[in-house]
Amino acid sequence: MRSESAASRPATCYLCGSPKTRLLIANQTYSFQSCASCGFRMEDPLPSPRDDDELYGDEFYRERGLEVGLDEQNPIMRRLIAERLRLLTELNGSPGTLLDIGAGTGLFVEASTRAGWRALGIETSAAATRIAARIGTSSVRHGRLEDVSFEEKFDVVTLWDVLEHLADPRATLRRIRELLNDGGLVAVSLPNVAGLKARALGLRWRYYRREFGHVSHFSPETLAILLEQAGFDPVQVRTSGAFNLGKPFHLDPVDVVTKHRVLARLQSMADGAVGRVGLGEDLRVIARRSNT
Ligand SMILES: [Zn+2]
Repeated sequence: MRSESAASRPATCYLCGSPKTRLLIANQTYSFQSCASCGFRMEDPLPSPRDDDELYGDEFYRERGLEVGLDEQNPIMRRLIAERLRLLTELNGSPGTLLDIGAGTGLFVEASTRAGWRALGIETSAAATRIAARIGTSSVRHGRLEDVSFEEKFDVVTLWDVLEHLADPRATLRRIRELLNDGGLVAVSLPNVAGLKARALGLRWRYYRREFGHVSHFSPETLAILLEQAGFDPVQVRTSGAFNLGKPFHLDPVDVVTKHRVLARLQSMADGAVGRVGLGEDLRVIARRSNT
């Protein structure tokens, strides 16, 4: 379902305002526009707001086996969380106050708390909030960022795989800027539309599929533009992860890391080489709140 007003407005680029957009994908359920000026890709018209509780209900988490606490997570997930925390602690100088937006079942909040951060999460799915309380942390609040007020400001706000779902990501980043202390950091991760996989697969790249609910697709360049527009200076841009070398051998990615050392080492080297030139599948940007 699309709203009439959205459908009738001219397609200008959300990011740079250019009218030079072209239709990238058009099918019966959705269409994506691509901007000839800045390269930004966004669904247009936007889907009407869906009920997140319906989309991310108990079944979503049960079917995917996500009702599992931090200690029972697979090593890939635990390593990812630990690496993110280590980096943020280093950039912040020490553990401080942290808000995780789209906290899901609270794994990052739980890990942050254990590492000495005063951490809080917010999450739009009531089911995820309930699961969080059951498997580890009661510090995940149910609600939307725009509806929740906070008693204190934060040193760090994290958006792990969240920004690409939002209809107005710039407005969310501006709100985050208000919630941050001077010099505070925002951390964003999302799939890299300029990565090797996206380039090789073209419109068959998995994240164009409706089931992921991604309404926009960022590259390192377009994400940096958005952050600057919202009052942030990027301090670290990183892409990583492009290969699944276990796939031809029908190996689970977790088994590659835990049981097949040579393959894991090869994969790590290949990923590192591709990531260093900005072609990794996962894009992560850390940005600091600017003073102006
Ligand atoms: Zn543009």
